[in-house]
Amino acid sequence: MAVFERARREGFLLTMHCDIDQEGSIEHIRQALEDIGVDRIDHGTDIVEDERLVELAKAKGIGFTCCPVSNSFVTEQMKSSEIRTLLDRGLAVTVNSDDPPTSAPMRPTTICHSPPTRTSISTVSSNSPRTRSAPPG
Ligand SMILES: [Zn+2]
Repeated sequence: MAVFERARREGFLLTMHCDIDQEGSIEHIRQALEDIGVDRIDHGTDIVEDERLVELAKAKGIGFTCCPVSNSFVTEQMKSSEIRTLLDRGLAVTVNSDDPPTSAPMRPTTICHSPPTRTSISTVSSNSPRTRSAPPG
């Protein structure tokens, strides 16, 4: 924990990679939110399974960088409905390509099985500054 405290003290924002559908996924998200106090979670759509953590992440304004193509490599599905649920719940979700060399770039218009609305596309776009890696300059 000392390394996270030091990083925070030195002005870094904290991000934790919480991959999907892994053993202990929900506990890892809980640790990231409560024990470490991250600012952003990469992936992390499994949070939809825990109502308390959803509310906590929303209250803290935690950004989620979701990567549908990467998800499809790990679980054979993009986790579109989970991403949509998190958006509908008001969490700061963005759509990303993960590692560009291995994951095809994504457009927000392709994240959902149901057609995205102008509002959902606008929300994803406006969430982006909330998931930045650096403090405002
Ligand atoms: Zn990743």
